[in-house]
Amino acid sequence: MDNNGVNEPMFSEMEQKFLKLKDEFETYQNFAENTIQIINEKNNKLEKNLDALTNIVEISKYINSNVSDENLITMINDMIIGILGVTYSSIYLLNDVGELVVKATNIESKRLNLKKYEISFMINNEEPFVINSKDPIFSLRHRKVKIHSIIGLPIYSRDIFKGYIIVEHALWNFFSQDHIAFISSITNQIGIALENNFLYNKVKESSITDPLLGIYNRRYFFEYVEENVKEKPNERFAMIMVDIDNFKKFNDNYGHQFGDKVLIETVNVLKENIEEDDFIARYGGEEIVIYISNVRSYSDVFRKVDNLREKLSNHLIEYKNEKKSVTASFGISYYPENGDTVQKVLSVADSMLYVAKNSGRNKVISS
Ligand code: GH3
Ligand code: MG
Ligand code: MG
Repeated sequence: MDNNGVNEPMFSEMEQKFLKLKDEFETYQNFAENTIQIINEKNNKLEKNLDALTNIVEISKYINSNVSDENLITMINDMIIGILGVTYSSIYLLNDVGELVVKATNIESKRLNLKKYEISFMINNEEPFVINSKDPIFSLRHRKVKIHSIIGLPIYSRDIFKGYIIVEHALWNFFSQDHIAFISSITNQIGIALENNFLYNKVKESSITDPLLGIYNRRYFFEYVEENVKEKPNERFAMIMVDIDNFKKFNDNYGHQFGDKVLIETVNVLKENIEEDDFIARYGGEEIVIYISNVRSYSDVFRKVDNLREKLSNHLIEYKNEKKSVTASFGISYYPENGDTVQKVLSVADSMLYVAKNSGRNKVISS
């Protein structure tokens, strides 16, 4: 029995050691489990971020390969809906007169007008906004599904406000910081796409226009007329070749710079007195060509061209304190009467111009 008395503290010491070890083990186990959980959460988050990043990279790849694609905005909007699982997404862009116009949306209503909506006060300040409301934000007249949360993020291109992405969800308080970050990176992508598009159009424009006169160049003139002939082979059109009279003397007497001024003002007079549908281009040096489509009457064309001639001859160009006058000669030809190709019709207009020059200049000669 005494042994018991002696052994008891020994056993209790072992027990204590055991309990301490057990305790330590459990602490480590908990720690390990917690760490695993944290790592798993971090992994999930990283995976999600990677997903979002992959989507953004996909979008930017698309943007860079389809700079002029009109459907780009629609495609980005569809991606937002697909990736975020939102109820509605719409992209609005400013038009030429500074109004926000819908470019892509999955809202059922055909006639969207941001100004008439309940959130119009939010979109006026060009700032990001989040709305959460336990009552539906829009009347059901505007949406088929009741909406309880919205984010609106402005689109900027080179720091200039261009529009909004407005994303809506049926659930209240749906949007998290992650959603906002994702949509915000999409607004940046759209900003880049708009800039690309602008540059693309500018390069395209400069490849088809004459830098001095701001009208189309000869190459594009042929492209345009040939395309029209292909589309409407039975439609009569007129070609007018214009050449400034004694142009060399302006250069020789007053300098090349004044020659340029004469050329620019001549083109301006012609541009102001042709119709919107008439197509004017620089053919070469001081030769201008005009294409008049859908001709119904030869005499109408002649009258119109003679009016150009007269307007030009009455126009005075300032040189220092003097005023100089300028005239031009005009040759007219017609498709299909003068040939079955653009080139043939044009060469007849050129021959008519030659006749006009030889019969004293400042004249209109028709085939
Ligand atoms: P004509 O009445 O027979 O047409 O006589 P012209 O002096 O106009 O003769 P021509 O048409 O042969 O002269 C064209 C001149 O236009 C020659 C060229 O130096 C000049 N020229 C061509 N392009 C330009 C330009 O962009 N600027 C200036 N200043 N001169 C140009
Ligand atoms: Mg000339
Ligand atoms: Mg000439």
